[in-house]
Amino acid sequence: MRYIFNDLEQIKKNFKDKYLFLFLDCDGTLTPIVDTPDKATISPGTKRLLNSLSQKKNCRIAIISGRALADIKKKVGLKNIIYSGNHGFQIEGPKIKHEMVVPSGYKKILERIKAQLKEKLSGTKGVFVEDKKLSLALHFRLADRQQVPLIKTIFHESVILYLVSNKIKIRPGKKILEVIPPVYWDKGKVVLWLLARQEALSRSGKIIPIYIGDDTTDEDAFKVLKNRGLTVFVGHADSSQAKYYVKSVKEVHELLKYILDI
Ligand SMILES: [Mg+2]
Repeated sequence: MRYIFNDLEQIKKNFKDKYLFLFLDCDGTLTPIVDTPDKATISPGTKRLLNSLSQKKNCRIAIISGRALADIKKKVGLKNIIYSGNHGFQIEGPKIKHEMVVPSGYKKILERIKAQLKEKLSGTKGVFVEDKKLSLALHFRLADRQQVPLIKTIFHESVILYLVSNKIKIRPGKKILEVIPPVYWDKGKVVLWLLARQEALSRSGKIIPIYIGDDTTDEDAFKVLKNRGLTVFVGHADSSQAKYYVKSVKEVHELLKYILDI
């Protein structure tokens, strides 16, 4: 990976007067990672920047998040932006509304897993189950580190039957384990879908995608955009598929500012 601020001149040259589609993860990209997801906030400065970018004629913005759709919409709170929640299973924005169809019985299974997790982990501190309707997240950032293997074991015991019969999928994240629908869909697919849709709509020829994210789930997007546009990982990772990196959420803000000026 290359440090993006070393290549800005080149990027500016390549991107000038092009139609840009900016894909942004939320937590850890626009907001610092905090102990519980409800405490994460986007700074007013970054919101202003996003708002300015969303008003530009040749720029689109999509926020691609693992959060539930209603949650991410509220957190960002801007119009004229496409929101994709639940890792892409829900999409909503100007003239677009889409929810993935899940297999029958899937939501009942989520209810059962939720009940089991709550029961088995009721005595464990620093753990909570978040019901995102189309997915279920077990957060354990605040748990005692020694408890983590036990928490993971309980999670896997609760899901294993459904997992082996392909009724659910599992997605591990940063101090989080998630149950998601058993469908062939991820952040990479969402990005390609939105890009194709925008190219058909705008008739402005090739659109340049820019993807910024910090999660393992963002790797699916980095992969599909490998030979196209700009991929930026937030943080330090040797294993990321992104071409570039920035060091922090603060530098994401700086990068957005730069893109606004292109
Ligand atoms: Mg993130």
